[in-house]
Amino acid sequence: MHDRLVRLRAAMAERGLSAILVSAPVNRRYLSGFTGSYGALLITPDAALILTDGRYRLQAALEAPAFALREVVNPGRPMPAVLAEATRELGLATLAFEAEHTSVAEHGRLSDALGGGVALLPADGLVEGLREQKDEAELVALQRAIAITDQALATVLPQLTPATTERQAAWLLEVAMREGGAEALSFPPIVASGPHAALPHWQPVDEPLGAGRPIVIDMGARFGGYHADLTRTVVLGEPDGRFEAIYGLVLAAQQRAIAGLRAGLRTDEADALARDHIAAAGHGEHFTHGLGHGVGLNIHEGPGLRRAAPGGQGTPLRAGMVTSVEPGVYIEGWGGVRIEDLVLITADGCEVLSRAPK
Ligand code: ZN
Ligand code: ZN
Repeated sequence: MHDRLVRLRAAMAERGLSAILVSAPVNRRYLSGFTGSYGALLITPDAALILTDGRYRLQAALEAPAFALREVVNPGRPMPAVLAEATRELGLATLAFEAEHTSVAEHGRLSDALGGGVALLPADGLVEGLREQKDEAELVALQRAIAITDQALATVLPQLTPATTERQAAWLLEVAMREGGAEALSFPPIVASGPHAALPHWQPVDEPLGAGRPIVIDMGARFGGYHADLTRTVVLGEPDGRFEAIYGLVLAAQQRAIAGLRAGLRTDEADALARDHIAAAGHGEHFTHGLGHGVGLNIHEGPGLRRAAPGGQGTPLRAGMVTSVEPGVYIEGWGGVRIEDLVLITADGCEVLSRAPK
């Protein structure tokens, strides 16, 4: 945790920021360890304050021992007033804030409380940038979430029959993940059979899985705040010839990407490893999303492995990033195939963390 503050302060110095208000819950948790639902951090090169209310007095002391508590009282001493007091005490002339995680109303209240003496500077992506590279403690939690997810799929797959409905299958997965130690689900499981599998984010319905058609299962367990994300595409009974061809194509695209990922490769180059292969087979237009995304305290976070905006280019991958690799081909009226694993980017390659068989 201390190391994260050191990295944040270095990033602040690089941007010339003398103080930052961290209000996004996952960023707050990442820097302090505090898991409560309400609070903010005020960090300068020398000070680390946590602002929260009486419900979290004990929890904040326990979870965030490196931060000095400033108690908010609603009503009476609301967050903006406590912040204004702290900025005066610390002699701050500017305060950076997370614009993407601050409502217009919150900004207005803060700005009123600070008066003219302290300038609010929008600063986005500072903590998110640090979070992209995982440290040891994060990798341990991620690997546990991944193992629970892999095991839950292995438990449930043999129980599925063509008569099982999508919703029943999703419930079996949910139960297996919770019984396996998940604190929560990363997201409601996706179970999409037949034509439903053409919709990447289909929500399960009360219809049987059926035989001989693709079933896309996308699922993840959460452990210690960290999210797993796994997709497999299976068939009950005998697959048709089209499935064999599309599955082989998506699998080969994924293998190409996994073989090519390494620190230094740009996010758009990573995406192209799989996309070019799928496009060469004539299915480019059926691969309707990016190759992958970072996972961590959020199920979707940086880096985004996808095509660059016109005229632009992606950013280089760094060792310690954990991303999904999930090419897919979706054909309206027939179904789709997606295969998703999580990988750890290393200096000269990547390590596949997901163990579920394909
Ligand atoms: Zn997924
Ligand atoms: Zn994913």
